[in-house]
Amino acid sequence: MNPNDPKLRAFIDVAPDSDFPIQNLPYGVFSTAGAGRRVGVAIGDFVLDLAEMAKAGLLPDVPAGVFESDALNPFMALGPDVWSATRTRLSALLQADAPRLRDDAALRARALVPMAQATLHLPFEVSAFSDFYSSLQHASNAGMILRGANAALMPNWRHMPIGYNSRASTVVVSGAPVRRPLGQLKIGDAPPVMVPCAKLDFELEMGVVIGQDSSMGDMLDQASAERMIFGFVLLNDWSARDIQAWEYQPLGPFLAKAFATTISPWVVTKEALEPFRAPTPAQEPAPLTYLRQTGLQNYDVHLEVDLQTAAMRAPVTISHSNFRYMYWSSLQQLMHHASTGCAMRVGDLLGSGTISGDDKAERGSLLELSWNGTTPLALGDGETRSFLEDGDRLTFRGWAQGEGYRVGFGEAAGVVLPAHPAPK
Ligand code: MN
Repeated sequence: MNPNDPKLRAFIDVAPDSDFPIQNLPYGVFSTAGAGRRVGVAIGDFVLDLAEMAKAGLLPDVPAGVFESDALNPFMALGPDVWSATRTRLSALLQADAPRLRDDAALRARALVPMAQATLHLPFEVSAFSDFYSSLQHASNAGMILRGANAALMPNWRHMPIGYNSRASTVVVSGAPVRRPLGQLKIGDAPPVMVPCAKLDFELEMGVVIGQDSSMGDMLDQASAERMIFGFVLLNDWSARDIQAWEYQPLGPFLAKAFATTISPWVVTKEALEPFRAPTPAQEPAPLTYLRQTGLQNYDVHLEVDLQTAAMRAPVTISHSNFRYMYWSSLQQLMHHASTGCAMRVGDLLGSGTISGDDKAERGSLLELSWNGTTPLALGDGETRSFLEDGDRLTFRGWAQGEGYRVGFGEAAGVVLPAHPAPK
């Protein structure tokens, strides 16, 4: 049976608002007390231990040991036919009428780990991380704030997905705290100083996870690019706006974006998102041939940002948006990235860029929500925010809504720690 069939039910009870019904089966890396890291799949409130399932001989499409790994990279390297076969097999093992796992109490005890007992880790080794700037609403807002309405969009913006090479070394999994960076700032006419960032921000993004290599020198056509996309994660591109403002000319963002990027622990496969494909907004002018795409290349994934300050008892939602708003699709970003012959690698991560919508409540950064601090955001309990303060906890959530179930991403969360003392 098609693993995306909305009628499928697992033999495990899964709440209708759970992120992890049988139609999802996202991959992650987890550990438990006394046992090291291995690959698992989320199902309801459990993690299915794929190392145990493989040892039981139930995952024959995958060579021995691939799931006894601290990263998804060896599995991703096996390619899209194996990804698909494995997902189909896992779905068949978890279905309500499938006795093999359901009726084997000993195997169930070994292989189904309550999520509350699992520690979730960075799901894959990030080979390289590039970040884009592909939401028209975000690029227009940011441009208006920084350059004024007449020069909001740079002349290149509608011709290619604009991006920069960021840092893989500081991509962390949800839950890892983020320390406010120190940086060189230029304040007014005074000489530059090395002080804590005063304009710490988030960027609401999705990340596309590349699961196959491409060869240096080769461009990618649509068919080969599509087969390289393993899945997607939630992504927070923590940003230091004041550091960025002084450093970015003429080579673009550097340290303002390099200190931390948070991703969700679960990688939702491209295959699980197939039922939620959505059109890309009309692209005018038409892109050059190498960027043209057919079919529905965006995804209808609802996104939310919650903020809880140190003084708050419960978080408030400060933004909601949708992955389908992207002007340039993840596919176009990948085709563009490889277009000069840049080799892509298993484990490459491409950030979508901040995803903002038309509505004010759909702005995906504090830069936009507070209009660079000129209209501080009211949090509803007397507190306001222009930018993030120490102790603020941000939580991203995202899901595609099906009929009676949702394909969700879990969370990408992090709390802001105070900066280290500045050097004297
Ligand atoms: Mn970004």
